[in-house]
Amino acid sequence: MPTLIPDEQSKPGSDQLLSMSRKAVIEIGVHALNEIGAGSICSVCIKYGGSCCIGCRHLVNGIGCTTRNTSCTAWLCGYLKYLLYATNQLEEWNGFWRQVPGQSYREDDTPEYVTVDKSLHLRSIAKLSEALAADLQELATKHPAIGFIHTLRDKIDKNIDQLNHCKNDPKRRKRIERNIKALSSPFRRFQIELDECHKRIGENE
Ligand code: SF4
Ligand code: SF4
Repeated sequence: MPTLIPDEQSKPGSDQLLSMSRKAVIEIGVHALNEIGAGSICSVCIKYGGSCCIGCRHLVNGIGCTTRNTSCTAWLCGYLKYLLYATNQLEEWNGFWRQVPGQSYREDDTPEYVTVDKSLHLRSIAKLSEALAADLQELATKHPAIGFIHTLRDKIDKNIDQLNHCKNDPKRRKRIERNIKALSSPFRRFQIELDECHKRIGENE
């Protein structure tokens, strides 16, 4: 956990009005991304030329990002969004970042201190990410179309975003959920691991 946030404040159920530094907000986000195992998915994506950092002036060869900001930390591509959607954690993520002002594109105007009333609590789902990464690796290798996994990522992204725009339209929601299911049907290892994950959660309840 980031050292700037006292442990008590990061436990579920202990949310209260907190003043948090911009640096701590970024650390919380980066820590959460590590916990969910984003790195294994990014590795496959980057290997096949789909990095979301391509062309950014803050990207330095051999170093990586030189200007971590709240905007890029909060931003999720279709695969990371799907990971949180499938594990019912997307709203937790979005709810945390909605509290952080000044997000922009590849930079931020976030004040040095922000006030939040909820922290971020994501389950560790690294095994799920590894399974998804293995599925993506297989798809990228087997599929003849160049950039197939990146096109798929963007389609999933679009569909998950659309869900937010039809909260009161159950018919449309169902249709979009069906689309997401169809788009994610090649994620065989991921689905097996997700079932296991649901079983473990069920056993612990
Ligand atoms: S687009 Fe997504 S999977 Fe690819 S590098 Fe960016 S965050 Fe990682
Ligand atoms: S600022 Fe954002 S897009 Fe640019 S290198 Fe850093 S994380 Fe990547």
